[in-house]
Amino acid sequence: MVVIDERGLILSFSAAAEKMFGYIEAEVVSENVSMLMPSPYREEHDSYLENYRDTGVRKIIGIGRVVTARHRDGFTFPIELSVGEARVDGSRIFTGFIRDLTERQQTELRLQDLQSELAHVGRVSEIGTLASSLAHELNQPLTAVTNYCETARDLLSEQPDAETLGIVREALDDAAKEAVRAGQIVRRLRDFIAYGETERRVEHLPRLINEANALALVGSREHGIEVEVKLDRSASRVIVDRIQIQQVLVNLIRNAIDAMLDSRIRALTIRTRTESNGFVRVSVCDTGGGINEEIAGQLFQPFVTSKESGMGIGLSICRTIVEAHGGRIWFEPGRRGGTEFHFTLPDAGADDAG
Ligand code: ADP
Repeated sequence: MVVIDERGLILSFSAAAEKMFGYIEAEVVSENVSMLMPSPYREEHDSYLENYRDTGVRKIIGIGRVVTARHRDGFTFPIELSVGEARVDGSRIFTGFIRDLTERQQTELRLQDLQSELAHVGRVSEIGTLASSLAHELNQPLTAVTNYCETARDLLSEQPDAETLGIVREALDDAAKEAVRAGQIVRRLRDFIAYGETERRVEHLPRLINEANALALVGSREHGIEVEVKLDRSASRVIVDRIQIQQVLVNLIRNAIDAMLDSRIRALTIRTRTESNGFVRVSVCDTGGGINEEIAGQLFQPFVTSKESGMGIGLSICRTIVEAHGGRIWFEPGRRGGTEFHFTLPDAGADDAG
């Protein structure tokens, strides 16, 4: 606690304040309290007091606020300040109750770290379930590259004429294309499971969706899933951590595919649209069997699953990620049967450059 008089001069300085600011009471009594503040507040504080004396308008008294304080050693730290007013022996004094928020700020940072670690664990486990499909997906272009190269080698073993050389060139072109395709699969995978700092920036939503879709649909070709992507052109810029939102999409799409394996009609629809409140809505809709009623109420809780080999952490991580972005996630029965999952993301608005 720090008590000041009407002019801002310190009257008393508690032992806790001594520890917090690094001064002993004798050094600060009768000094201007502005010495405990960084610029520009340091220079302006006298006028705050004057204003209050002249107008009686309370800007902080009885309200409380998070402000920045300055330690004797010059560093600043966040505090929560509540100011009270009292009359003692006919003169006015102000009492400041101060709480150091450094620790709380550190806790929040730690929470953010934990959240991104959790998200990372989720991605690694998701890729674990995709591993054999991915191996298969990679094998296809690699086999093709082998075939093209072997064909080219055989064609070159005798004196090739111009036509043969043309075929060889084509085969090598095709081999290069297949190698690029394999490289893309590896790059997407590497990005997806990389452990990086959470980084939010303006991202192009359609690109983000297409990439996530490519990863999520790995190995699902044989299930004959019909995929439709309906994108709202005005909902194309969002402020997100790309990898984390792709993780949400991969999760929802994989769940949708799982849900449709027993259905006759297997239609997956991914839709976007702008909401009126500064958010963009993304929806993943399926024609599966719908949500199991027994677990519908706790779907977003961890370890809730209806699958034999399910971990039940996918949707809880999705919720953590979406809420950390300021959005929300929910589900409802689909219009054509099945289920629709929706989530919202902060809209970055239209591109100024058009
Ligand atoms: P997991 O997929 O490992 O079970 P999730 O948290 O992703 O974990 O999903 C939890 C449960 O929610 C699933 O087991 C399933 O019962 C249900 N669920 C999720 N998505 C769908 C969907 N599209 N259709 C029907 N049920 C779903």
